[in-house]
Amino acid sequence: MSEHSPFTDQSTADVLAGLDYWRSLEIKQQPTWPDAAAVAAASEEIASLPPLVFAGEVDRLRDRVASAARGEAFMLMGGDCAETFAGATADQIRNRVKTLLQMAVVLTYGASMPVIKVGRMAGQFAKPRSNDFETRGDVTLPAYRGDIVNGYDFTPESRAANPERLVRGYHTAASTLNLIRAFTQGGFADLRQVHDWNKGFTENPANARYDKLAKEIDRAVRFMIATGADLGELKRTEFYVSHEALLMDYERPMTRIDSRTGTAYNTSSHFLWIGERTRDLDGAHIDFLSRVRNPIGVKLGPTTTADDALALIDKLDPNREPGRLTFITRMGAEKIRDVLPPLLEAVKDSGSVPLWVTDPMHGNGITTPTGYKTRRFDDVMNELKGFFEAHRQVGTFPGGIHVELTGDDVTECLGGSENIDEATLSTRYESLCDPRLNHMQSLELAFQVSEELTR
Ligand code: PEP
Ligand code: MN
Repeated sequence: MSEHSPFTDQSTADVLAGLDYWRSLEIKQQPTWPDAAAVAAASEEIASLPPLVFAGEVDRLRDRVASAARGEAFMLMGGDCAETFAGATADQIRNRVKTLLQMAVVLTYGASMPVIKVGRMAGQFAKPRSNDFETRGDVTLPAYRGDIVNGYDFTPESRAANPERLVRGYHTAASTLNLIRAFTQGGFADLRQVHDWNKGFTENPANARYDKLAKEIDRAVRFMIATGADLGELKRTEFYVSHEALLMDYERPMTRIDSRTGTAYNTSSHFLWIGERTRDLDGAHIDFLSRVRNPIGVKLGPTTTADDALALIDKLDPNREPGRLTFITRMGAEKIRDVLPPLLEAVKDSGSVPLWVTDPMHGNGITTPTGYKTRRFDDVMNELKGFFEAHRQVGTFPGGIHVELTGDDVTECLGGSENIDEATLSTRYESLCDPRLNHMQSLELAFQVSEELTR
């Protein structure tokens, strides 16, 4: 079998063989399963279950990403750092979808463009870790790798990787996606209702500084309704899902051959990204994802060189296909203004037009003296501003944002108009992994990005 030739006239047998080529490569961040036979059985069960997303939807999202890469749309991607099985409740899913819809209205106004809405949802269950083990006192146990692998409780039973969780991950993703589809197609996403929710945010005196923008949006929405725009269409919205394609025992069995084209689609999600820790050029994750048709994201941290970016383009987008590739930069507020412009310059001449998205969260983590992992809202905003500056400088399009957020009133990130301080963090810190913007902070971020987009 050839080492690498995606989306050509390969036979089905070759496509299938290619989907397992990663097994011969170095792979990072996989759990140590205690029982290989049980993992194989779980993977087999998953492979027999229906796809969660359909190839046609994936193709449509690729077109949307292409339009954003050309500067004709803006992407909003957001959700938990790590979804949990316990958190897949109607209320929590609704609050996250609601927050994303509210942000999208504000961003649509600022960008004067369609906003592509993507939840970091319905499969964001597996986490890369900096250490394989965690020590508390004199006890050392395997690190928590996300609910699809093991439990968060610090006991040997809970921390043992359990293959039954793979199947539960599938079913939890299915019920999450089912509710998302109901919310976004069944009237909940009605623009007029979303706009009313936003009024609740701006009427809060803490958010007075967004008053002017809020009034402009209000007039724009009322104008649109007055023109008799198709009110049926206002009730529905396109909504996609994404997650980090990390855990191969889930991603591989969810990948299927599309009968229309004979090519492979990862049917666990519309959009998949490769994390900063697993984007080795010759590693398993890059090879596997180079062979599926989904739009692919790659996280780029502050040590990324221009050569790295160009090599990633050659591996993941050899055909220079519009919408195929998204670079999600996570440089840190202090570094982005230095590190991003040369990458943008180098990629500009490559013939590939990736979508550039900023993740202003992962380069700005800090730990408080009391031991909370947190991020400052101001650092997040600073990185966002640096992202827009870098693109203005080079003449490229700042095409979207990728944020860790929840629709609930948690206290995990510092600052924002509610001024969450270090002492407040402990009152409602619920994330099992990285700190998320809460509902208010998320809307505030959307207003500030919208201001940035209208500059
Ligand atoms: C994440 O998105 O939660 C994550 C682990 O990101 P990164 O790969 O950029 O560190
Ligand atoms: Mn995270």
